[in-house]
Amino acid sequence: MSDQDKVIIFDTTLRDGEQSPGASMNAAEKLRLATQLEKLGVDVLEAGFPAASDGDLDAVAQIAGKLKRTTVTGLARTTRSDIDRAWKAVQHAAKPRIHTFIATSDIHLEYKLKMNREQVVDRAVDAVRYAKSFTEDIEFSAEDGSRSDRDYLCRIFEAAIEAGATTVNLPDTVGYAVPEEFAETVRYILDHTPNIGKAVLSVHCHNDLGLATANTIAAIRAGARQAEVTINGIGERAGNTSLEEVVMAMHTRNNFIPVTTNIHTEHIHPTSRLVSMITGIIVQPNKAVVGANAFAHEAGIHQDGILKNPMTYEIMRPETIGLSANKLVLGKHSGRHALRERIKEMGYDLSVAELDLIFTKFKELADKKKHVVDEDLEVIVTEGILRTSDIFKLEYLHVTCGNTVMPMASVKLTVNGRSVRGAGYGNGPIDAAYNTIAKLTGTESELLRFTVGALTGGTDAQGEVTVRLRENGLVTLGKGADPDIITASAKAYLNGLNRLEYLKSHPVTEPTAVAV
Ligand SMILES: [Zn+2]
Repeated sequence: MSDQDKVIIFDTTLRDGEQSPGASMNAAEKLRLATQLEKLGVDVLEAGFPAASDGDLDAVAQIAGKLKRTTVTGLARTTRSDIDRAWKAVQHAAKPRIHTFIATSDIHLEYKLKMNREQVVDRAVDAVRYAKSFTEDIEFSAEDGSRSDRDYLCRIFEAAIEAGATTVNLPDTVGYAVPEEFAETVRYILDHTPNIGKAVLSVHCHNDLGLATANTIAAIRAGARQAEVTINGIGERAGNTSLEEVVMAMHTRNNFIPVTTNIHTEHIHPTSRLVSMITGIIVQPNKAVVGANAFAHEAGIHQDGILKNPMTYEIMRPETIGLSANKLVLGKHSGRHALRERIKEMGYDLSVAELDLIFTKFKELADKKKHVVDEDLEVIVTEGILRTSDIFKLEYLHVTCGNTVMPMASVKLTVNGRSVRGAGYGNGPIDAAYNTIAKLTGTESELLRFTVGALTGGTDAQGEVTVRLRENGLVTLGKGADPDIITASAKAYLNGLNRLEYLKSHPVTEPTAVAV
């Protein structure tokens, strides 16, 4: 296929996705996710909003220093200080991009910016020119573009391209567009922006009406050549366009949408799992492409046809997205070499000391569980390596419960490297463990939600617990896995508490309620 038929996949899981309530990630987790996204084949990775906080700037800079093939960008408003911080964050990237934005709809101009249309064009041009003094690759976004006047959009895009923008982005910031209308806007921009040939036209959709994927596909059919997406569709409110839905729609319906991407679809499922595990945001079972039921043909009437030819009821093969039936499994007798190779294949680059630690934990798990699969290893590495900066760590947990005793937990933790221990009662074993942990950590969070599931299939599967916590207006999610469900619950709780501590120590200096 020719170059014209390629759609650039711009992933914003780490920026817009992180704006999902409670989805904060630490720097090590972001770096791991970025590495996985590069392996998946995303062309551009929006790593954060460097003006929001020093923590965000550092995380973007670390990612920029690590990735080799993927373009790394940071978001900036149209102020020089934001652009300075964005450049500071991405300057060492192999392929840096600066992404700047300003709102273009009348409602935003009047109530938020208190500027007229001329002033907004001037500000955009100034920002793009300034960004261009640092690097070639500049993206300009017209926030709330779908509710902006079409002629005005063409005018501001023309001016931004003239000033040096190489990508211009049309966001449906509030998730208001419908497919035919959105496609018309894309066509209008392509027909009425004289220098549009010098830039890539991009779209960025939100899912408030459940139309993000439909709008994105309609825009691509109309000529847009960059899609801004997140893994599992995570993002503010109802979320963003899902990477996996857009990519698999183009892949499966290539006869109708004759374009290609650089995505290696076989990494879609592992990436989806990783995002869910790191952010704590569960994927709904009926979610297209990556949901637990997406490929399950449980209904009897379908079974016969499926056995004879899978394509009778399956439009995609599970292997295509990396859901393979014959997964490589490790067990009790697998050696260090096999583990190292597998971990490497999964995309980790561990030191000898880290590998030692993982090997010990792997052996412990293999004693309890016959088959150790990638999901299990991912948990071991996430908990053992990516969360080493945690303040609270579980050392020991013992619970007594039953129908004749009052549930009691004795717990040993390290708090900032210091060992503390204590015991406490509760209405049930998990309540007893949580009461004791709250006492030992001196925290006063409120448990908003508690969910339990299984990490994989099989009766020896690890239990997977997700919690949502709130303390002083801050909300976080926490996730933990263990063959023992009480231990998994304690790990999830501690993970949530650690995230609360992270949020407290990384105050957001600028409101992140910016939305492109
Ligand atoms: Zn957005």
